[in-house]
Formats: sequence, C-alpha cells, structure tokens
Amino acid sequence: MSRKEFHDEAIVNQIAEHYREILRLIGEDPSREGLVKTPIRAAKAIIDITAGYRQDAVEVAKKAVFEHAGSSIVIVKDIEFYSMCEHHILPFFGKVSIGYIPKGKMIGLSKLARIVDVYARRLQVQERLTAEVCNLLAETLPNDGVIVTCTAEHLCMKMRGVEKQDSATTTMEYTGKFADDIRLREEFLRLLKA
Ligand SMILES: [Zn+2]
Repeated sequence: MSRKEFHDEAIVNQIAEHYREILRLIGEDPSREGLVKTPIRAAKAIIDITAGYRQDAVEVAKKAVFEHAGSSIVIVKDIEFYSMCEHHILPFFGKVSIGYIPKGKMIGLSKLARIVDVYARRLQVQERLTAEVCNLLAETLPNDGVIVTCTAEHLCMKMRGVEKQDSATTTMEYTGKFADDIRLREEFLRLLKA
C-alpha cells in the first residue's frame, strides 16, 4: 500500500483525538483558531511519516533486480532519509550510503532509495535502520557482500541540548566479503570520500 492510498478516516480521527488531548495536557487551548485543524493535520502527518509499516521492502527490492556481469563494488552514495527516533518520537535525518559486490545481479538505484525510505518511515533507531537496509539487500540481492553506512543528526539530542549542535552519529553494518576483508571496507570508505 502506498502512502497516498491510506485513507482510513476512522484512524485519522482517533489519532487526532489523542493529539487534541496532548495539546490540552501541555497547556494549550485546542479550540483556539490556529490549532483547530492541527490535530487532524498532525494525525495525517504521523501516518505519512510512518508509512513504512504498511510497505514491504522485500517486494520493492525484488522488482528492480536485473542482470549484471561485473563483480567490482557498486556504490550508491548519500541517499537522503528522514526518520523518527523510537525513544522520543522526534526526527532524525541524514544520509545512507550503500555498497555491494554483485554476483550476477544489480539493483536499480531508485529502488535503493525506496528501500531506505520504507525502513526510515517507521519509529527507528539509527543502528537498526542501518542493519535492516544491509540485511534486506544481503538476503534479496545475489551478492558477495553488502556494506551500509548511515550518518544522521538527532533532534532529540540537539533540541534538548544533549549533543553539540554540529555533531552527527555514524553507524555501519556489513556482510560477506566486507566482513572478511578490512581492505574492502577501507576501499568502500575511501570511495565514499572521493
Ligand atoms: Zn531520541
């Protein structure tokens, strides 16, 4: 189901009712002019932001695999994503870079971005987002190794002053030859900087 197809009015209204209550509890007046439509807007936004729960990354991945003869590293750099941390339900966002060693098949570039999006549009932690993208590719795409890095800024840390304003967190997951050979991981990281 795509996020555009999600039209369950009953669920939108239920979520909106909870947002209305949250507004009351934080000391706002949900009936003042600027806030009257806010609960409905917020409900639609959170449904959109969590559309990944209603999408299947395996289906997305399978649709875009095609023949490829080469066996040198394929890299897709800086796939932008926006997600929500599961600890505070606040945004974290950044970039995912993917490398893999093909084994007869390749996957379309736009589909890699879709796969990142399916996992990002859920409540997440950065480490799991990175691992889920890596594992999905390792399992659905014939390969000799997959490596995924993710660099992100977390508003739950920045807005609350826990973290220096310019800091970012980087996570990395890898399988296959990338796990066996540190030189391959170094080559991937060097290609990312190039
Ligand atoms: Zn958080």
